[in-house]
Amino acid sequence: MNCYECAMRDRRETVAVASCSTCGAAACVEHVRVGAAVVHEHSPGNPADYRLPGRRLYDVTCAPPGSVTPQEAMEGTVPAS
Ligand SMILES: [Zn+2]
Ligand SMILES: [Zn+2]
Repeated sequence: MNCYECAMRDRRETVAVASCSTCGAAACVEHVRVGAAVVHEHSPGNPADYRLPGRRLYDVTCAPPGSVTPQEAMEGTVPAS
């Protein structure tokens, strides 16, 4: 599969390394982002976010705040919870 962003933006064919966990689009190493899955709990007066174990991969369009590039992930930058 080829990267969706590369195909749409630049009409390039780049081999994808992941598919976005939100929209399912394929993303190359340049366009993939590494994040964490977060569950938002809405309880009256005490809303909370719980970070799930493991990682989630996103494309640049769907990357949530706190997600990082694969390079940053390799260097140990932990995605913000
Ligand atoms: Zn790409
Ligand atoms: Zn996506």
